[in-house]
Amino acid sequence: MYREKIEAYFAGREDELIQMLTRLASVKSVREEAQEGMPFGKGPADALAVGLELAGEMGFTTRNVDNYVGVVDLNEHKTILGILCHLDVVGEGTGWNTPPYTPTVIGDEIFGRGVSDNKGPAVAALLALKAVKELGVPLKHNVRMIMGTDEESGSGDIAYYFAREAAPKYTFSPDGTFPVVNTEKGGLKPTFSRSWPVSEAKPRVVYAKGGYRLNVVPPEAEALVEGMGQAHVEKVCETVAQKTGATYEVSMEDGKVKIFVKGKGEHASTPHKGLNAITALIAALAELPLAESESKKAIHALNTLIPHGDFSGTALGIAQSDAISGSLTVAFTLFELSQTGFTGRFDGRTPVCTTEENSLDVVVKAFAPYGITVEGKLTPSHHTPGDSPFVKTLLKAYETYSGNKGFCEYTGGGTYVHNIEGGVCFGATMPGFETNMHGANEKASIKDLITAAKIFTQVIIDLCS
Ligand SMILES: [Zn+2]
Repeated sequence: MYREKIEAYFAGREDELIQMLTRLASVKSVREEAQEGMPFGKGPADALAVGLELAGEMGFTTRNVDNYVGVVDLNEHKTILGILCHLDVVGEGTGWNTPPYTPTVIGDEIFGRGVSDNKGPAVAALLALKAVKELGVPLKHNVRMIMGTDEESGSGDIAYYFAREAAPKYTFSPDGTFPVVNTEKGGLKPTFSRSWPVSEAKPRVVYAKGGYRLNVVPPEAEALVEGMGQAHVEKVCETVAQKTGATYEVSMEDGKVKIFVKGKGEHASTPHKGLNAITALIAALAELPLAESESKKAIHALNTLIPHGDFSGTALGIAQSDAISGSLTVAFTLFELSQTGFTGRFDGRTPVCTTEENSLDVVVKAFAPYGITVEGKLTPSHHTPGDSPFVKTLLKAYETYSGNKGFCEYTGGGTYVHNIEGGVCFGATMPGFETNMHGANEKASIKDLITAAKIFTQVIIDLCS
């Protein structure tokens, strides 16, 4: 039912979509310093104003919740469905072929920061609300669109909103890829450390460090070694490089040997796609003929427990997986060693089957023999059953309008719905389409956004009528 009407309604609507998206994506809505009444700065607040203006022009009731989120209601009934989008963006960076905040249409694609993540999908959702209204479908329930302004920098917007309002029975967020992401891994991101008295025995490591963000596989790391010749260190690094694949630059600095390691950065949820400079550095340090010391023991412990290339926590004893959420992943992302101790952190993504007993407790026990203390906790995973009527409704609408097979997937990354019971990520990018999100030349397919709008229209009708 309604399929033909929906198809007919969206025929020739590309220009309307482009105009709306252009208005939204012309606003540079990167998080800035908070200002009075603007918790995430002026850009995100300005984008929200445009989003609510667009909804207001369609005749919908809108509400600005203190510039944290904006709310758009389709009707006065009880809200059963929530659609969660965000209007903030990450910085534009460099390497663009078009001006990042002047959305540019080339063929079927529109280029600009935020056109895919997440302003395009927000426009598709707004058009879906408008379609349901203009098609005159009788509804028994309300759909509420919630437009956030801080998804990229901590999701403080959604936390603020849901501390004040109950979550709808069903929620989807078109902030990813079709079909449905119903499972998100949990997090195990402990800090491990040890301190010791300074040891003068040489050769020794003066310092070692790497990593700049917990959720990024470190692309660089470095160390300073005292009491060895450059040629000797170079030789060791050459051998280790063959195993790790990293690049080692060895140079002299004030009579000491500096080792600079280059790897490849990557999101911590997919560590196998990067090249971890910290573990590559530790692999080299562990091969040096260092004098006996607590520092040396710690380096060897780390090389044993989180060896280079172990992305699954095998050496730590926490490797595990399940059918709905895949394998546990480990990325050693922050490390700092001085003459008096060290601190490290890894970013672990845990499947649904993970408990504190089979993860954190095991890590604590693994480090204990080396006198290394571990602190942290397990953040729960998120799972909405793939066979629930809600998810089935989403998948059916997706199959109908895209012609593709619908299925559920898991992710190691967290999304907007991580803490919302019954929430899933649904669209709005079609599988296989490269959006370049967070990078230069971010783009969206206009045809696919129209298809997404049709899918959302059908879903609203199915769940609210
Ligand atoms: Zn996003």
